Amino acid sequence: TRRPLIAGNWKMNGLADESLLQIKDLAARASKISDPACDVLICPPATLLRDLAKAAMDSPVAVGGQDCHANEKGAHTGDISATMLKDSGAHYCIVGHSERRTDHGETNADVKSKAEAVLREGLIAIVCVGETLSEREAGTTLDVISDQVRNSLPSGATAANTVIAYEPVWAIGTGKTPTVLDVQTVHAHIRTELNELMNDANRVRLLYGGSVKGSNAGELMAVENVDGALVGGASLTAEDFWPIVNVCI
Ligand code: 13P
Repeated sequence: TRRPLIAGNWKMNGLADESLLQIKDLAARASKISDPACDVLICPPATLLRDLAKAAMDSPVAVGGQDCHANEKGAHTGDISATMLKDSGAHYCIVGHSERRTDHGETNADVKSKAEAVLREGLIAIVCVGETLSEREAGTTLDVISDQVRNSLPSGATAANTVIAYEPVWAIGTGKTPTVLDVQTVHAHIRTELNELMNDANRVRLLYGGSVKGSNAGELMAVENVDGALVGGASLTAEDFWPIVNVCI
């Protein structure tokens, strides 16, 4: 049995005062659950990590980074290392989000190096994969996913240190979601690929991401091989995020 993970990716959103209110609200709701059945995570902008980690400290809510550099330190202006994320209170880091792959030209090899940096720090890597609309329309979805999984997976990946998030690019921020059958097909395919690559593949958590909200979370989380969600827009307030967490907690 895999313990679900409900993760919020705040992307480039959040200023200190409002963000603290939101994480305190979320932490208070989660703290009322006596024996939470899932893990809960917020990945805020790095500027907020330390404050939010502190605010959520004695709650079931963890915090994580959204990206990291592959190196530990050095002459890389503007970049942040996994070492620094850990030092700020992070327990997880997202790598290879499609917005990083698109906006910053990150390749599978880059994502793999970043994920390996995350593992070196003892943090959990959330490795993102997903096809574009044109790839889906061309019928190449499963090939794209195979390529991304095989080439982005960090060496040393285990079920304890690595999570895979399937986020179809065309479903991100669009209000569109794949059918339950499409999600089931891709997640089963990822599981099959992982079985070729690692020993404990059956215990790796596979998240779905892309327009998850309170009203569709129940249906999506019930799909076979869906072990949680990676949520963007609907994770920004505790009011919107809680109903999604509540499906699993
Ligand atoms: P939305 O939930 O806003 O579609 O974003 C999904 C996402 O990209 C999470 O990483």
